[in-house]
Amino acid sequence: MAKWGKLSFAQKKCVSTVGMLMQKTEMVKDGDRIGIAVSGGVDSFVLIRTMLIRQAIIPFNIELMVLHVNPGFIPDSHYPLSDWCRENGIASHIELTDYGPRAHGPENKKKSACFYCSRLRRKRLFELCDQYNLTHLALGHTADDLVTTFHMNMLQNGRVQGLSANESFFKGKLQVIRPTLMLEKKYIKAAARQWELPIWSNKCPSNDNTKRSEINNWLEDEWRKMPGSRNNTFNALRRWQLDLNMKTS
Ligand code: SF4
Repeated sequence: MAKWGKLSFAQKKCVSTVGMLMQKTEMVKDGDRIGIAVSGGVDSFVLIRTMLIRQAIIPFNIELMVLHVNPGFIPDSHYPLSDWCRENGIASHIELTDYGPRAHGPENKKKSACFYCSRLRRKRLFELCDQYNLTHLALGHTADDLVTTFHMNMLQNGRVQGLSANESFFKGKLQVIRPTLMLEKKYIKAAARQWELPIWSNKCPSNDNTKRSEINNWLEDEWRKMPGSRNNTFNALRRWQLDLNMKTS
């Protein structure tokens, strides 16, 4: 038996859907060094677990490393992640920052707290990729994020734009990848529970209180009015995003 044991339906769904996207968009190749950005939430924790299994399945070598930037609301919230990485033999860089409180303080006069905080975090993750000579930065966005982002871009910015599964930064020096982009959150939540991942909740005042959650709630209300519309929205946007990525990969 493989060292990860027998997988449940939801866990298999995670491993196979990530594998399909990696293959179709030629996401990784032999020798790639992938930093996995982990927030401590359910999506990114399932991303690490799934990537460890994919690493064992694929017929070439890739290296994985966990990158965690604690936003600073609870200084020791990342302890379970450090322990988990040690127990599962995965390299990690974990650091405590003050990005969250700064994003809610006087330094941030114009932007939303999440915009400011995410920008600082993204910049730091890019620096860490450079420091550790990583070829890829993997983010834990899901199909649910794709659907919400698409609607946010359309309704707020007048743009038709989703989330790329595989995009190039710094003249090709770094690929930002989203291996779980085709995967629905319901499978991720079930798999996380079954894997008993030590997830912690984000104690930020902006958590679940953003334009993103507002649009998400509005979508859920609309979908309830028309049976089948939720599935159709997910399927349409997944197909559209996958086609775009396959054309550019
Ligand atoms: S919810 Fe809080 S920690 Fe998360 S991005 Fe927004 S401001 Fe930062």
